Amino acid sequence: MGIPYTHIDKLFIDGAWVASSERAREPVINPATEEVIAEAPIGGRAEAEAAIAAARHSFDHGPWSQMSMQQRAEVMRRFRDALVENGDRIKALLTAEAGATFGIMNGPQFGGAIRALDFAIEQGLRMKPEMTPVEIRPNPYDPRGNDMIGAASVEHEPFGVVVGITAYNYPFFLSLGKIAPALMAGNSIVLKPSPFTPYSTLLFGEIAQSVGIPKGVLNIVTGGPEVGSMLTTDPRVDLISFTGSDAVGAAIMGQAAPTLKKLHLELGGKSALIVRADADVQASAMLALMCFTMHSGQGCALLTRYIVHNSVRAAFVATIKGALAHWKQGDPSDPSVLMGPLIRAAARAKTERYVQIGLDSGAKLIVGGKRPAHLQRGYFFEPTLFDDVDNRSALAQDEIFGPVGAVIGYDTDEQAIALANDSPLGLYGAVNSADKAQAFRMARRLRTGNVWINGGLNDLTVEVPFGGYKRSGIGREFGSRWLAEYMQEKAIVYPIG
Ligand code: NAD
Repeated sequence: MGIPYTHIDKLFIDGAWVASSERAREPVINPATEEVIAEAPIGGRAEAEAAIAAARHSFDHGPWSQMSMQQRAEVMRRFRDALVENGDRIKALLTAEAGATFGIMNGPQFGGAIRALDFAIEQGLRMKPEMTPVEIRPNPYDPRGNDMIGAASVEHEPFGVVVGITAYNYPFFLSLGKIAPALMAGNSIVLKPSPFTPYSTLLFGEIAQSVGIPKGVLNIVTGGPEVGSMLTTDPRVDLISFTGSDAVGAAIMGQAAPTLKKLHLELGGKSALIVRADADVQASAMLALMCFTMHSGQGCALLTRYIVHNSVRAAFVATIKGALAHWKQGDPSDPSVLMGPLIRAAARAKTERYVQIGLDSGAKLIVGGKRPAHLQRGYFFEPTLFDDVDNRSALAQDEIFGPVGAVIGYDTDEQAIALANDSPLGLYGAVNSADKAQAFRMARRLRTGNVWINGGLNDLTVEVPFGGYKRSGIGREFGSRWLAEYMQEKAIVYPIG
């Protein structure tokens, strides 16, 4: 039995599987074994063109864009049920293609993705036009005539053709995070996954076909920057929802500017956890450890900068070091493994470069810093912790996207806030303290889209908005306005009588 979904050798365009005009295929590698799991089809200009045309036609002519929320919800529930029915196959693919461990799968990679889809369906069903109160005004053109009376309805309409471009780390979650709000809101979508993880998105074509999503509403084109560039410059595309690095986000902003597209950018992070002197040091250390090792540090919102009060810093570092002795790293298909591999050799080489940068900057290597001796194959890297890190160094400023944590000492709350905010990124933040009111005050001053106090709910919470300040992005995913991000507001004003 092969790995599920790797039999797919075509792209999904206008409700059908279409062979790519590009003859080349891209080997997709299992990062834990370095084995090629399959040769994926690569899309080119012809496929990007066909996918945009199909999405445009389906949006302009319906029926999907003109259905009621109730009608779309019926189809999206079938879509959800089909994903859940195929859950074991999807999880097996995600382990082989993205290196996802058992814990990550039940968290954001699969379980969180289904929760997000449920949330989008419920939100769509709750949406109603906003009616303004009846207004009575003097008639400005005929002050002696009767007053005017009228009201308005603010309608939400689908935005149009959406392009969803996604990163490799949570490929199923990220693609579903574009499909769910875009389709529930009535848009048509063209998805372009990362070339590292094409199958985790191509599978949605099979699911869409099986539940009868009308043709052209969901299209999937693989490929790299050339295809991405076409999708982000074409005038027929109305909205781009991008999840990836800040550098590519900035490039996409430029690509999309001449045609003035709406942009939604979910970018990188280098998030700070502030540990006050009165914090539970054990819990704080475990939170830090969970973050910099989770998915080998390949997460945008992970807390990887630890701003720790100098009075508890030694205990914080020692606790992490002690716990790491029991941290099992290895093949992610083993349910007892807590930490899998990095996605590719280049990601591991980048992590190695940052270890050297850390050492050169005078930071103190506490643990890790090299490839694990017992794992000869696979792109593994040891969980790595530095202490005495200078917040101005590249080790503390750059997103590494590998399993590296940086500890920075401080003495006053003001210093801690200044250090946390001294970052070009602003996705997540956290404050741990026994004084919850002071933690709340500090949370308000962090320049980030989300803040956890004492670990938050330690789970992805789709009910609250998620997104970044500064170079971490523009717009929010999830939360009460999620579908509104994919819709136009239209005010219809009318007289009464
Ligand atoms: P990346 O920016 O290198 O690539 C992301 C996607 O953009 C890929 O599909 C890629 O093929 C495509 N792309 C590259 N150049 C393009 C161009 N010029 N035009 C259009 N598309 C182009 O990111 P990655 O290495 O796949 O993922 C890691 C990054 O993603 C990290 O920075 C991480 O923080 C970020 N991320 C953010 C979130 C979030 O929600 N904020 C979630 C996951 C990952």
